[in-house]
Amino acid sequence: MSEADRQLPSSVEIFEATPIHDQEPDRESHRTRIADTLAMIPHGHRSLLEVGCGPGYLLHRAPLARTFGTDLSRRSVRRLRRPGAVASVLALPFASKSVDVVLCAETLEHLTALERPRAARELARVARHHVVVSVPYRERLLESSARCPRCRRVFHLHGHRDSLDEADLRGLFPTARRLVFDYSWPVRPYNRALLRLRTGTFGLWKHTAYTVCPHCGNQEFPNDQTRPLYRVFSGLNQVLNPRRSAFNWLLLRAELE
Ligand SMILES: [Zn+2]
Repeated sequence: MSEADRQLPSSVEIFEATPIHDQEPDRESHRTRIADTLAMIPHGHRSLLEVGCGPGYLLHRAPLARTFGTDLSRRSVRRLRRPGAVASVLALPFASKSVDVVLCAETLEHLTALERPRAARELARVARHHVVVSVPYRERLLESSARCPRCRRVFHLHGHRDSLDEADLRGLFPTARRLVFDYSWPVRPYNRALLRLRTGTFGLWKHTAYTVCPHCGNQEFPNDQTRPLYRVFSGLNQVLNPRRSAFNWLLLRAELE
């Protein structure tokens, strides 16, 4: 683990401290991701565990007879309308091969590169048949990062640590019998040079309603997105990338033996 990784508080501290995940997904992109993720679960299974389930957006919609969830955030687990427990993906309190399908959506990108293989081994240990995973696909981390005006450090707004692709996920499930990939929600990629110019040179960063600096705890952030120059950059990017030629999310079903 690098020095930087050790110093960062986990994403869960941010989720505990702010209502960032409390609202039902209201954007079409998230509703589409949820539907596409659930479509990765084969019919005919009875039990499902969702690891990193948050307040249950996916879990509550999963059409299986027995569903339960775990999350590191107490705040999230309290909001579940299904059985749930506070637990880490690195040490799941379940017997081996005790659940038909283990789902882990939008969680692995919050872990360090050292934690990720350990997490994948836990998911595959508990699953009897399938592990279904989703992560942001080839995410340009700078696009959803901010610079703290107090301590001047740059951090990802949602605590994502790495940009992941098919090869990364393939490497996490080396013993799977078969891996099935899918993709969700077409997006316009942000030109890398333009992004570096917008952030590094012009100091214009993305903004969320509940931004907390993971380094110094500052919660006062200017909203650069309302500035005309920010919109100029968005317009330039539309010229450079006229089509939605990339996907926002990568989905994987690892079929175990
Ligand atoms: Zn700071």
